[in-house]
Amino acid sequence: MIGTFGATYKLDGDNLNAAEQVAKNENFDLSNVKFRKGGIYQLFNKREVTWNSSIVTNNDTNAKTIAHELKHYIQSLNQGWANFQARGIYEQFLKSILGVPVYDWTKYGNKYQESEAQYYGDHFILTTK
Ligand SMILES: [Zn+2]
Repeated sequence: MIGTFGATYKLDGDNLNAAEQVAKNENFDLSNVKFRKGGIYQLFNKREVTWNSSIVTNNDTNAKTIAHELKHYIQSLNQGWANFQARGIYEQFLKSILGVPVYDWTKYGNKYQESEAQYYGDHFILTTK
């Protein structure tokens, strides 16, 4: 896991505030979520990804993206890990192979995991402490 997705690290600044705010709003224990960066995955893919309880980030990951990825974490808690991953892979297939804009909430509402998470991240407002 460390080689693939990188070492865990502690969020700070706005990203930490965002994660704490989402955890409070959505009522889950943030200490169960591991944030990672620096793994092999990032050599091939610049997108953030949520894999089980790990959220893989980049150096430029911002608060809205943290909210987006934590929405995926919540989806995986609600659906179960296997269902969540299967849907995620299916959606990436729709997007990559068939050209379906699965991130487009205005088109699909919460139909897709990505459209739901994108809406959540886009509308996330960080309240400063
Ligand atoms: Zn996503």
